Amino acid sequence: MATPSIHQPSQRRLTDSDDPGPNDDPEQLRLFHRWRAARSPSSVVHLDSAGAARPSRATIAAETAYLESESELGAYAAEVEAGSGLHATRARLVSLMGPGLDADDLSFHHSASAAFATLLMAWRLPAGARIGVVPSEYGSNMLVLAARALRTAVSLVDLPVDETGVIDVETLDRAGVACADAPGRIGLADLDLVVFPQVPSQRGIVQPAAAIGARCAAEGVPLVLDVAQSLGQVEVSQTAASAYIGTSRKWLCGPRGAGFLAVRKGSVDLLDIAVPSLHSTRFDRNDRPVPLPGLARLGIGEAATVSRIGLGQAVTELMDSGPSRVFARIARLAGQGRHLLDGAGGWRVREDPDSPCGIITMQPPPGTDPVAVRDRLYREDRVLASAIPVDRSRDLTGPVLRASAHVYTDPAEFERLAMGLERIAYDR
Ligand SMILES: *Cc1c(COP(=O)(O)O)cnc(C)c1O
Repeated sequence: MATPSIHQPSQRRLTDSDDPGPNDDPEQLRLFHRWRAARSPSSVVHLDSAGAARPSRATIAAETAYLESESELGAYAAEVEAGSGLHATRARLVSLMGPGLDADDLSFHHSASAAFATLLMAWRLPAGARIGVVPSEYGSNMLVLAARALRTAVSLVDLPVDETGVIDVETLDRAGVACADAPGRIGLADLDLVVFPQVPSQRGIVQPAAAIGARCAAEGVPLVLDVAQSLGQVEVSQTAASAYIGTSRKWLCGPRGAGFLAVRKGSVDLLDIAVPSLHSTRFDRNDRPVPLPGLARLGIGEAATVSRIGLGQAVTELMDSGPSRVFARIARLAGQGRHLLDGAGGWRVREDPDSPCGIITMQPPPGTDPVAVRDRLYREDRVLASAIPVDRSRDLTGPVLRASAHVYTDPAEFERLAMGLERIAYDR
């Protein structure tokens, strides 16, 4: 690991130009230039794709054109006119997820959190059921799970993980899951549901979702996979989950205000009503509320359709670039970033340098508050990074700083962050 130094920042420099490095492959370089040129110049060094990535000008143009059509035709007619485009967006999104899903298996939501809460509240679980979870579960999801567990006496059990938080498949296979309400350990087959984020918000790791998905499918245990932080930056399409939830504004580079959920046909008819409304529920002959057929039972009605239109354009750009090329570029950038950032101003990178994930998290030097440093980086250095508060996830022992680059990021921008961290450490 690099020795922290405030006197020799040049040791960490990649190059002096915009060129992302001599060993860069030309295809990745073309991709970088194309994605960069597709966006307006930014007045900040934007290293927060995991929070909200930068949409392209074409995405903004698609939204503007749609808003014009809402004014011209009225918002309902505009949505009908945009129907085939919205259908195509749903088809593209499911094609990025597990096999065997089609456009009708996906519905838009307001956010990943809202989609997760709706899905989990609708999921039928008998009293005494067990949900397999991970310590890196997203804070809001964890609250939903805890509330769900209280409501019907369901218990939450942690899947075994290694010291970096990655699910330990070997231990799971060999020794199962430790469970407070059962003597010894139980097997995966004794769980009624498994839920985890493929990539957590607060750590640059990728869960072995395909391996867990295969095991869950073999044992007939449903898996709900949170792809809010993974879809658009890592491969999701081999995961075979029963349901997925995700969001527009992170790695997919869509606008805010759109999320989605996808549920496999075999699982959808088992769902209860989560939030009753005319968009999800009807009265039966005996005046009892019953869920609408299929995925409509999770329908939300009113929403900003424009954000779905923008997401559609963003997903089209991802598909046109070739998702696997995009994923490779992001992983490579993160590797370069970890190399540059580890030790800067005494901050330590928390991931393996080669973790195949676009998220970089940094442990502060003693006595340093990541929130204050995030604010100073933005105000004084025009560098945008994220401070992750400790309540984001159970597996955090303190707040951390997060940097996340996308295809449009120049690797030299990590140097700006490293220099900012060193300057602030020196200034203290
Ligand atoms: C951001 C995030 C969510 C929530 O997404 P929203 O669209 O903000 O509700 C869920 N899970 C993970 C892992 C996230 O990083």
